[in-house]
Amino acid sequence: MTTKTDYLDVLIVGAGLSGIGAAHHVQDAFPNRTFAVLEARDAIGGTWDLFRYPGIRSDSDMQTLGYRFRPWTDEKSIADGPAILDYVRDTAAEAGIDRHIRFGHRVIGADWSSEQSMWTVTAEHAGEIVTLSARFLYACTGYYRYDEGFTPKFEGTERFRGEIVHPQHWPEDLDYTGKKVVVIGSGATAVTLVPSMAADAGHVTMLQRSPTYIASLPAKDPIANTLRRVLGNRIAYPITRWKNVAFSTVTYQLSQRLPRLVKAFLRKAQERQLPDGYDIGTHFTPRYNPWDQRMCLVPDGDLFRAIRHGKASVVTDRIATFTERGLALESGTELDADVIVTATGLNLQIFGGAELSVDGKPVSLPETLAYKGMMLSDVPNFVFTIGYTNASWTLKADLVAEYFCRLLARMDERGESVCVPVNNDPTLTTRPLLDFEAGYVMRSVAQFPKSGSRAPWQLGMSYVHDLVTLRHRTLDDGVMQFS
Ligand SMILES: Cc1cc2nc3c(=O)[nH]c(=O)nc-3n(C[C@H](O)[C@H](O)[C@H](O)COP(=O)(O)OP(=O)(O)OC[C@H]3O[C@@H](n4cnc5c(N)ncnc54)[C@H](O)[C@@H]3O)c2cc1C
Repeated sequence: MTTKTDYLDVLIVGAGLSGIGAAHHVQDAFPNRTFAVLEARDAIGGTWDLFRYPGIRSDSDMQTLGYRFRPWTDEKSIADGPAILDYVRDTAAEAGIDRHIRFGHRVIGADWSSEQSMWTVTAEHAGEIVTLSARFLYACTGYYRYDEGFTPKFEGTERFRGEIVHPQHWPEDLDYTGKKVVVIGSGATAVTLVPSMAADAGHVTMLQRSPTYIASLPAKDPIANTLRRVLGNRIAYPITRWKNVAFSTVTYQLSQRLPRLVKAFLRKAQERQLPDGYDIGTHFTPRYNPWDQRMCLVPDGDLFRAIRHGKASVVTDRIATFTERGLALESGTELDADVIVTATGLNLQIFGGAELSVDGKPVSLPETLAYKGMMLSDVPNFVFTIGYTNASWTLKADLVAEYFCRLLARMDERGESVCVPVNNDPTLTTRPLLDFEAGYVMRSVAQFPKSGSRAPWQLGMSYVHDLVTLRHRTLDDGVMQFS
């Protein structure tokens, strides 16, 4: 075990979409400042490098999942995983950010010293412990565990003679040509996998406990592509970005205020795309309202087309047990399968599992409050990125980076070295950070920081509101303390 110490102005953790974006903002605004990106894996891209299942793609448009500072120029708005990975890698390479990434460094802890106004960050690297010092710590570690996806405990898995696969650990050589496949789940991953695997499999069954709202959008946005041809990338990109922000904001607001109208609209669209007499009530009508959980997008109705062509089907039931030949369901139905894919979700994890402490005292995350959804109460010089659940992640990631650069610029100007949000409102009440009913959120949200009943402690889910607050409002709000 050896130790070497390095000093940096800004230490970013994670080289995914957010980490590369954060580094780009910092480098652009402060060309003379030192920064590094510590990345646990040996690759750039995070999510878009990790997930390798067939058909992996975005489920939001790339004009808003792309960075504000770098136009998305592909024809497809709902893009394939490899194209997104190329976009992140190219962003890093073009700006020379890749030279600042230290791969294979998994951050395990960070301690803030009030005496030195500095973070000491501990990382594992090639079996050694490495320490680095930094003025600011900026966590871009995503929101889930990389080493293991979530699989509920199913009875009888050991009896099953076929193959069981989790989308987070896709075997490169898995051959499902002509085979019977069952995909367990109804989220974004399941609805991506089913039509994609249906192209080669004998038949694919999507087995869900309960349905999800699914809407079809064109993979290629004709307005975006026309604007791009006529006006060029630089001008067309922000226009399309705003068009898409407006569309998602209106859809979200309508869903919250007039859920019956949105339900009826979604149902009509599904009726047009599914076979006559299809049981939409059972398979595509959730008990909750649209956008109470994340809505799934399917490009050009590919899932509905696979069902229409008889290549895929949906079963809404519960698993009683795995059998030798497949699955026995609670209704008594048996599903035969050669391959079973458990698209059952993620294990949420905050800050990549790194333990934070302030002057040696461990930070208990559930006892902290999230400030503007990007800093923690009583934790100095620490920023994190968690994107929206109702809109593209990068919209928030870009705003967090801009706000961070504003903070740094102001502190430089005034010779301040510490900024820390402090709650001095005794009447503030707390609530879970993610107010979202999805199973994967409910399972782990208790380990997360809390949100408060009032700004700036509320986690906003409105891009327009955050844009005004983070980009334009004063930094001196009486809560952020500078010294
Ligand atoms: C399959 C899938 C599809 C998705 N599709 C969309 C979509 O269409 N639209 C959308 O808005 N969102 C989507 N999301 C959410 C998605 O994760 C974000 O859009 C975005 O990719 C997150 O980027 P990130 O850089 O913040 O996190 P990640 O992509 O998770 O990257 C985090 C990086 O941090 C590294 N890291 C973690 N812990 C440590 C540590 N302790 N030390 C060092 N490094 C560490 C990881 O190795 C990784 O490289 C999707 C998520 C998944 C899983």
